[in-house]
Amino acid sequence: MSVWIAPVFLPHAGCPHRCVFCDQGRIWGSPSIPSVEDVRDRLARFFETGARGFEASTRQIAFYGGSFTMLEPSLQESYLAVAAAYVRKGWVDSIRVSTRPEALGADQLSLLRRWGVATIEIGVQSLSDSVLEQTRRGHKAQDSIEAIKRAKKAGFEVGAQIMLGLPGDRGRESLLTAERLCSLRPDFVRLYPVVVFEGTELAFRLRSGQYRPLSLEDAVSLAAQVLDAIESYGIPVVRIGLLHAPGPGPSSEGVLAGPVHPAFGYLVRCRLYLERLARALSSGGPAKREVLRLRVHPRDRCLVYGHKGTNLAFLTEVSGARRIEVQNDETVPKGRAVHEWIRA
Ligand code: SF4
Repeated sequence: MSVWIAPVFLPHAGCPHRCVFCDQGRIWGSPSIPSVEDVRDRLARFFETGARGFEASTRQIAFYGGSFTMLEPSLQESYLAVAAAYVRKGWVDSIRVSTRPEALGADQLSLLRRWGVATIEIGVQSLSDSVLEQTRRGHKAQDSIEAIKRAKKAGFEVGAQIMLGLPGDRGRESLLTAERLCSLRPDFVRLYPVVVFEGTELAFRLRSGQYRPLSLEDAVSLAAQVLDAIESYGIPVVRIGLLHAPGPGPSSEGVLAGPVHPAFGYLVRCRLYLERLARALSSGGPAKREVLRLRVHPRDRCLVYGHKGTNLAFLTEVSGARRIEVQNDETVPKGRAVHEWIRA
């Protein structure tokens, strides 16, 4: 399913405080909260460009960057009324909002439902109370668990955002978070490694030696394990890592430290693909000087080769194959490969 989003950024709107890692102004490249009139103008300009997303199966206006359901209800309704006009015109199908887990009670859900919101993205971040405490999130894991259950029961599509490398997270907490989260069956997940933005509490902790971010290698390795766990439940991970450049999504502009890479998500998917292939091959016991043929979905071809060809080189070495042939096969599910050994 492809989703087309017309984004509206409301940096820190409704947030009761700043979480230690967060600077939405920098992430979204928009320092202040736009008024309802600003949103009306921006959406009008956005749609004037002819952008419609006809090719997508779902088209939405999304309010990102803050805690939407913690805004005054009248202000929520004013923003939603602007978006709902585009739903009535048939230019988008529905509305999406992002918010905090403790702000999704029955009244808040019913307000969203009344205005045509179909998707709620919940900032879960971690399901470890100790990590949440050290991150000063201001809510418990149980708040996220209940919010996801309530929103799903009320018929919303539910997305969950989780972060890797938060203070107090030694990797194990991220893996446990992924497992617990999957048991709640969110409809999709976003996965972000923590990066340190200038001006945040985390930047202060970094400078005073109280926080050390994940290295790029550790972040890729951990994200691949978390991705593997989530995908094993059939739950799609729709985004891995911040964007590297300004654009229609969270960006890594202004990062002081942390695992930033222009193709972080690609590195993670390459790593997971490699690990799955290596696992499958380890059961084969190939003879030297044979050719290993890999049939893969055409869209996975780049994952087999890996960043700068590293996956293919590694696979050639560990498999003992004389060479590896990669064949496109649309019948092979994405993320998987079928292998066979052929006499050279
Ligand atoms: S992480 Fe979410 S709740 Fe925390 S400050 Fe940022 S936008 Fe607000």
